Amino acid sequence: MKAARLVRFGKPLELVEVDIPKIGNHDALIKIKACGVCHTDLHFQDGTMKPGYFPITLGHEMAGQVIDVGGEVDWLKKGTKVIVDYQYVCGRCHNCRIGLEEQCTASTMGGFDVEGGYAEYAKMPARNLIELPRSISYEEGATLTCGGGTVYHAIKSAGVNYEDTIVVYGFGGLGILALQVAKLTGARILVVDISEEKLALAKKLGAHGVINGLKQDVVKETKAMTDRKGASKVLEFVASQKTLENSLRMLNTGGRLIVLGVLSKSFQTNFNHLMTNKIQVEFQGGYRRWELEELVQLVKAGIVKPIVSKCYQLKDVNKALDELRQGKIVGRAVIIP
Ligand SMILES: [Zn+2]
Ligand SMILES: [Zn+2]
Repeated sequence: MKAARLVRFGKPLELVEVDIPKIGNHDALIKIKACGVCHTDLHFQDGTMKPGYFPITLGHEMAGQVIDVGGEVDWLKKGTKVIVDYQYVCGRCHNCRIGLEEQCTASTMGGFDVEGGYAEYAKMPARNLIELPRSISYEEGATLTCGGGTVYHAIKSAGVNYEDTIVVYGFGGLGILALQVAKLTGARILVVDISEEKLALAKKLGAHGVINGLKQDVVKETKAMTDRKGASKVLEFVASQKTLENSLRMLNTGGRLIVLGVLSKSFQTNFNHLMTNKIQVEFQGGYRRWELEELVQLVKAGIVKPIVSKCYQLKDVNKALDELRQGKIVGRAVIIP
């Protein structure tokens, strides 16, 4: 089968021929129908995040059809339409046992530490498959796994509610889902981005205010839109020195910064400002399986709508990554092997 593999940092992925994976007793083999393109893949390519080994097949937002199952898997039929919960958690460590599976201390992740979905086929533990309803396309389903699950978990665990004014900082694939999920809580939502096209989409999806980070003073505008109080929570998807600093400055007293973007460099700030204003900072990544299942149901009901703007063939995976890097993708891009 064909697979797009990361062979070295700083280089394009290589399209190579590899064996179709052999499955174990508790595994499933799926034919990949769609695999979402995530910013994390750029971090792997740049070396700011380290993969499990080289060469490795990237791609962790997988959707596909079950082709084969292991001998111990009697509850999953061949042909089932599925998405992949790519966090292959152990289920035995302390964190798993108390329900914090996103903090599993012995997990591997498809497309991170083990083979992912930029390939024609992939194997994974069968228990990590979630059935995808007929009304959700493979392309839409793929984007729910990492992007959707992560956002859903962050908003749930931050206890977002109708009293909040939330800033969604960065309106890429995750930001789009964040706006829709946060809106369900009744919170007021402001969106910051540097692309007018993305801000227009934010308005269309119901953002209460939008701010252009290139043309406007983001902190000043947020204060102006919140009666000088500032936002109560910021969901930060960019995570640069400038955007993090802006985020901390636009929060009200007791506000909460939730970082979801990956920091590629170290970050400096004035600790006194955080102390004086009782600012909380937390980092989110990953989700719990039941949250992903809940999100699938929200999409099935038409309450949340994933936006897939571009589909690429597997041979064009590097083009997809480059266009993501250049900010040319509104919503999520998907590879169709
Ligand atoms: Zn991801
Ligand atoms: Zn665990």
